[in-house]
Amino acid sequence: MNKSVFRNLSYGVYIITTMDGDRKVGCTANSAMQITSDPATIALSLNHENYTNSCVAKTKKFAINILSEKSDPSLIGTFGFKSSKDNDKYTDVKYKMIEGVPVIEDSCGYIICEVIDTMETSTHTVFLGKVTTGDTLDKAPAMTYAYYHNVIRGTAPKNAPTYIPSEDDKKPEASSKVQWKCGICGYIYDGDVPFEELPDTWVCPLCSAPKSAFEKVS
Ligand code: FE
Repeated sequence: MNKSVFRNLSYGVYIITTMDGDRKVGCTANSAMQITSDPATIALSLNHENYTNSCVAKTKKFAINILSEKSDPSLIGTFGFKSSKDNDKYTDVKYKMIEGVPVIEDSCGYIICEVIDTMETSTHTVFLGKVTTGDTLDKAPAMTYAYYHNVIRGTAPKNAPTYIPSEDDKKPEASSKVQWKCGICGYIYDGDVPFEELPDTWVCPLCSAPKSAFEKVS
């Protein structure tokens, strides 16, 4: 089949947060959907390999933090592309605790859920969540996955439901400008300053990978 048809489905970009005992954990996700509004119910898909999956399964509670087009895109890299198992992802992130789970302040809203059911696929768990509270935090439009892909120019990690293998080999559109691609998250730098060599202090704005992770793709 032509898997690119999946890109015609709409997705948002979310940070899923929960607790691992007394540690705050979380990951980036884009597969969450409202099932009903009354009773308010949400479905969320998380890969089995995601450490946050096992923590949601244990605590039976999670928050969906909805990123907006104004949210700092580095949140996507901070919470994606590395594991909560060995990383404290909250070091430089503003959050507040609501109903026992962290809520990211730089988002346009949050929804907190209690897990009421799960369904296993071969790779993912679908958590069915009863919404216990939620609020809007900003009026900026919610970030869609298409916006992330086309404007921020990031890609999905391999364990994301929206990952399409051909993205791995995808080259940026032909351009006379020098472009640099992050080998970790797929972010493409093609900014107004056309670096022939990236500065030594360069870090990926999405996943914080160093200069050495970038390759020239002009
Ligand atoms: Fe990166």
